[in-house]
Amino acid sequence: MKCDPKDVIYMDNNATTRVAPEVVEAMMPFLTECYGNPSSMHSFGGQVSGSVEKARIQVAELIGANSKEITFTSCGTESDSTAILSALQAFPEKRHIVTTRVEHPAIKHLCENLDRLTGHKHRVTRLHVDSDGTLDLTQYEKALTEDTAIVSVMWANNETGVIFPVEKMAAMAKERGILFHTDAVQAVGKIPINLQELDIDFLSLSGHKLHAPKGVGVLYVKRGTPFVPFLAGGHQEDGRRGGTENVASIVGLGRACELAGETMEEENTRVRALRDRLEEGLLTSVPKSMLNGHKTDRLPNTTNISFEFVEGEAILLHMNIHNICASSGSACTSGSLEPSHVLRAMGVPFTAAHGSIRYSLSVYNTDAEVDFVLEKMPPIIAELRELSPFWKAE
Ligand code: PLP
Repeated sequence: MKCDPKDVIYMDNNATTRVAPEVVEAMMPFLTECYGNPSSMHSFGGQVSGSVEKARIQVAELIGANSKEITFTSCGTESDSTAILSALQAFPEKRHIVTTRVEHPAIKHLCENLDRLTGHKHRVTRLHVDSDGTLDLTQYEKALTEDTAIVSVMWANNETGVIFPVEKMAAMAKERGILFHTDAVQAVGKIPINLQELDIDFLSLSGHKLHAPKGVGVLYVKRGTPFVPFLAGGHQEDGRRGGTENVASIVGLGRACELAGETMEEENTRVRALRDRLEEGLLTSVPKSMLNGHKTDRLPNTTNISFEFVEGEAILLHMNIHNICASSGSACTSGSLEPSHVLRAMGVPFTAAHGSIRYSLSVYNTDAEVDFVLEKMPPIIAELRELSPFWKAE
């Protein structure tokens, strides 16, 4: 298999990111000569253990945590499951969870399967969002009860980039003695996070969303928060997660977090400016196009645009001819194209939800790439609309 990233215009960074060359360099010794087990007593393993601990500090520094609060996992999904299931086991008498209608499947499907997983009946409140994808805190306040074991609200949405007021929501949960988890997989590395000042008990992050490899994640657990491990096994991770550590990827994640701290300002200025130029250009050059998501309370790298009366997957196929990579808001489920649950929750009209495209940029994108996409998109949409019976009926 041969991939040639030189020819690709990659605007699908919320799906996964390029592993930074600096991260690859940091990982290489652990894929070659430094192969010791960090749990071994000999110094060959001990050196490796030192590198895992360095990575723990690098991750902690990016999110304003203490390194003792960092547990390495295999991915964001594992971190999410660990947090929720831990809270339910720590408070078995509480059977209520508060979350939102726009969570990633890692939380959405977990909540749908809770009764089967725990053997108990649970009640899940899924908070509504407005048409711009934002949450209403009055609705949230009403949802919190004495029976609520945990609140799980994503920090930033993977499809629209909309940022939720997790700081405030965590404080409201804390006032009522309820645990608070945030899926910050899309937020970490893109916007500043300082957990020291917040009432967040659990936070999930994932390496492959911030230029580290796939297959490594983190669960932050605030000091003092009751915790029940998800993976029982050896004494790794201070007894919090059994299984020999994925050392090379952990070291890579540590380096990626260090780099993210250094490039955060660029993400919030240069990448934001690229995203804004792309967004404004598309919205003005393509008729019947609309932005999905709040204009400002949003990640700096993400824009989700609906092109009415065309099918997202058809648009992606045409973009693919020009080597432009992005994502669509519809997923092919059992032969039918279902619009995304996020856009449906926002009440995006059917004809627009089907034609939504998410462009998610990174520090590796350039002005020339934005120019290229702005040149190619209007004719793609015009050509597809010529074939669309809905467009002709307009
Ligand atoms: N949560 C969010 C918001 C995500 O965007 C993703 C991945 O797309 C995940 C969780 C799952 O992360 P992972 O792929 O590391 O399991």
